[in-house]
Amino acid sequence: MSYTVPKTIPKTQKAIWFDKPNAPLEYKDIDVPKPKPTELLIKVLYSGVCHTDIHVYQNDWPIEASANVSGHEGAGVVVAMGENVKGWEIGDYAGIKWLNGSCMNCEFCEQGAEPNCPHADLSGCTHNGSFQQYATADAVQAAKIPKNADLAKAAPILCAGVTVYKALKTADLLAGQWVCISGAAGGLGSLAIQYATAMGYRVLAIDGGEDKGKYVKSLGAEAYIDYTKEKDIVEAVKKATDGGPHGVINVSVSEQAMNQSVDYVRPLGKVVLVGLPENAKVTVPVFESVIKSVQVKGSYVGNRKDTQEALDFFARGKVDCQIRIIGLSEAPKAFDQLKAGKVMGRIVLDTSK
Ligand code: NAD
Ligand code: ZN
Ligand code: ZN
Repeated sequence: MSYTVPKTIPKTQKAIWFDKPNAPLEYKDIDVPKPKPTELLIKVLYSGVCHTDIHVYQNDWPIEASANVSGHEGAGVVVAMGENVKGWEIGDYAGIKWLNGSCMNCEFCEQGAEPNCPHADLSGCTHNGSFQQYATADAVQAAKIPKNADLAKAAPILCAGVTVYKALKTADLLAGQWVCISGAAGGLGSLAIQYATAMGYRVLAIDGGEDKGKYVKSLGAEAYIDYTKEKDIVEAVKKATDGGPHGVINVSVSEQAMNQSVDYVRPLGKVVLVGLPENAKVTVPVFESVIKSVQVKGSYVGNRKDTQEALDFFARGKVDCQIRIIGLSEAPKAFDQLKAGKVMGRIVLDTSK
């Protein structure tokens, strides 16, 4: 699809603004930011709404948030850039990710683990994010979105897609093995099912309710367990996967679900922690973990290479983002629906409305 570059950049724009955590979310006019010498100015056309935006807005995590504008799944067009930017042209399609920028100089950046950089700048957290019509992004970390992509559908790849793709790489499975996606009908989960299927794994999905069961099966899950109905989840998962899944991708916002995954994972299996419920702890029984030789691993978004690979699966039609588009002004409704667990797939904001 093609999108036009505006001839002039306005001085002000619409944004969803909050003064501090839990303060009212206001749809209002704010200044268009100026890119630093190393930054792009992106006209954001669409932005996904991730559960992380709610965690940051509610101040759930031990992290210093200073941004007044949420959003880290922004897809749009480059309209201006600082004088030191290389490798970008006006009109290119660009993506705003959670990792807006990193130092590129520490031991973690050096080995391509840029999300783990102690100086990371985070969209919608320490850097005003994509719930605005124009946003700045570090030119090194901004994602290159292929020309002709549908930008509304590309938006969720920039966080949800890359995160679950990286989590599946972290689980390090073989084609034909079972992976359990816990929280399968949400933004991350709906993409995790599709990446897992494209990578050759067999998917057992866990989420709540009949509609979500039908939904996850339509995306490629072979089996479904409804956590609101099933009394013994651990036994049900082991039965459905003939001894437990080889890997588990935990994308629910549930401490209990994460703890259960340590119990049902197959011997030699890998439990990957991705969802970030407030103050949660996963307790690992030492005896069973040793005897089963299981691994529990954290996985945090992805680096530039993971992002390009995740976008490539999308561009080749191997994953399709399940989106519902609403106006930017309706962002507070999206927060309410996500908090209530009512969103299947992703809500994407159209910044023109
Ligand atoms: P979402 O609200 O769209 O999806 C969560 C899903 O979990 C929902 O479908 C919900 O019904 C389901 N769920 C709730 N309780 C469950 C249970 N007990 N068992 C199974 N499923 C259950 O949220 P999202 O946008 O997909 O984000 C999920 C989490 O991932 C959030 O905590 C977010 O902050 C985190 N996240 C982490 C990273 C990372 O890099 N590690 C990146 C992005 C998001
Ligand atoms: Zn996110
Ligand atoms: Zn660094």
